[in-house]
Amino acid sequence: MKNKTHPFRRKWGQNFLSDSNLLDRIIRTLDLQKNDSILEIGPGDGLLTEKIFSNVKEMAIVEIDPLLVKHLSIRSDFTDIRIIHGDILMQNIEEIPITNPVRVVGNIPYNITSSIIFWLIEQLDYWEDAHIMLQKEVADRLIAQVGTKQYSRLTVLVGVYINIELCFKVAPDVFYPKPKVDSAIVRFTKKKTPIIADTDFVKFNSIVKAAFLKRRKMLRNSLSGFDFSENIKKEIDFTRRPETLSIEEFAKLLG
Ligand code: SAH
Repeated sequence: MKNKTHPFRRKWGQNFLSDSNLLDRIIRTLDLQKNDSILEIGPGDGLLTEKIFSNVKEMAIVEIDPLLVKHLSIRSDFTDIRIIHGDILMQNIEEIPITNPVRVVGNIPYNITSSIIFWLIEQLDYWEDAHIMLQKEVADRLIAQVGTKQYSRLTVLVGVYINIELCFKVAPDVFYPKPKVDSAIVRFTKKKTPIIADTDFVKFNSIVKAAFLKRRKMLRNSLSGFDFSENIKKEIDFTRRPETLSIEEFAKLLG
């Protein structure tokens, strides 16, 4: 809302976009097709929503703030949009009345960035790609190469399922209120074949978590609580530190 009367809700991570050059740049990046079905997370006052909607077949938006939902619902140009009042993390895309797989778009609240990324992983079968605005620092971790400081638990867990591309960086001053951090638009696409089986995820998560909790330790110390077969020990040198293992090498630890 451009009028300054809208009460910004910090708890809902509200940082709105108004810069029309930036909105246009996001639209170009999305490369919208007439037949697209779009799911937008946290539409806010709907500036990005209206630019997207005029280019696609159908759209659903999920917004948690009742004031904003009310504001969006009375717009005559939004009557054909499915407006859902709720928490994105509680939604199953399959149950939203819109054709699957959807394309996901969102300038999302930064305090739940990781939760939304893991929600996307849970919902993998029901979306085609996702374009998400997030903290530049998180984007750097998502795209980090093995052996770098940014290479972390998040890089490995997400990288098992998803390919990540940084589309472009965004400075704080195009938002109101301004966030304290730099941002970036990131494109998520699904790996044709996930690197691990779904049924291995819980074990994989606990291994990767334990390894990165003690980042400076050798695997033989950080992973001493796990039982690895002799075969695995032959393949992976346990004097290595976690940030030197590629995602595929972490997957080998599953045996
Ligand atoms: N897309 C708008 C607003 C971005 S601010 C713009 O670019 O201007 C983030 C938006 O997400 C806010 O509208 C906020 O109310 C909403 N939001 C916060 N938590 C949410 C949740 N769990 N589920 C859905 N929407 C949420």
